Amino acid sequence: MQSIPGTNADKSALKRSFQSGLRRVHMWCARRELPERMALYLHSLDPAEQPAVRAMLQWCRDHGRTFVDTDRYLAPDCPAGVVNVSFDDNHRGWHDALPVFEEFGVMVTFYMNTCVLRGSCSAEEMHRYYDLVEHHGRREPLTVGEIAEIHRAGHLIGAHTHSHLAMKKVPLEHARADLERNRAMLEEITGAKVSHFSYPFGVRRHFSPALGEMVRRMGFQSIAAATPGLLYKPRDPFWLQRTYWMLDKPVAWNAENLRVNGALWVKLTKLSPIG
Ligand SMILES: [Zn+2]
Repeated sequence: MQSIPGTNADKSALKRSFQSGLRRVHMWCARRELPERMALYLHSLDPAEQPAVRAMLQWCRDHGRTFVDTDRYLAPDCPAGVVNVSFDDNHRGWHDALPVFEEFGVMVTFYMNTCVLRGSCSAEEMHRYYDLVEHHGRREPLTVGEIAEIHRAGHLIGAHTHSHLAMKKVPLEHARADLERNRAMLEEITGAKVSHFSYPFGVRRHFSPALGEMVRRMGFQSIAAATPGLLYKPRDPFWLQRTYWMLDKPVAWNAENLRVNGALWVKLTKLSPIG
């Protein structure tokens, strides 16, 4: 079907075609061996997506990789050959998938928003939240009890702001209060310190050095970013560079994305090298 010039459909078709062209160019000129250390991140994990997450974990295993949690991944003495897995936002399916993570021996980091908790928010609030994070699958967040169980299963709970805030668009004090509220709620639910943080919307244009400094001063041990192509950067114990893994795409497509060294492109443009 052809889109009408100037419409949103037309613009998004143009954007998709630009992104796939960009990805092809980087596959051609910036493709490397798999990085020694890989941090993968995802969002939802609906029950129907469990086979795809299993395939991802099996692919890591087949490539001789060892799963490590975020504390270990960022440690200066962490060896090569490791994979770190994390999820952002707030999805009931994470809890459903606990047996899968146990089977593969993966300690995941879940960076959670707390503005929606199943059982204590309205259907309207849930829909508003999932519209904001552009999730169109199962629209159900975790309950307080499920978050506590995820923590008890040994996974790390990280902060992701209370309301999935576009932090750069608000005054620093507002951003700080929202993040502080998120951390306090998660610490109360789990009874443990929350030390890791991933910023909403993941790409550099949504964050700033001033916000980074604020997060550091708040006592967080790390900030997770989500711009692909930076897995080859020299390690920095405070910055976790992650590349997305899309469960609706083939394993091979995702694996190829991990091989792109996009550091120069990201430095020049602040854009993802693979769309
Ligand atoms: Zn998010």
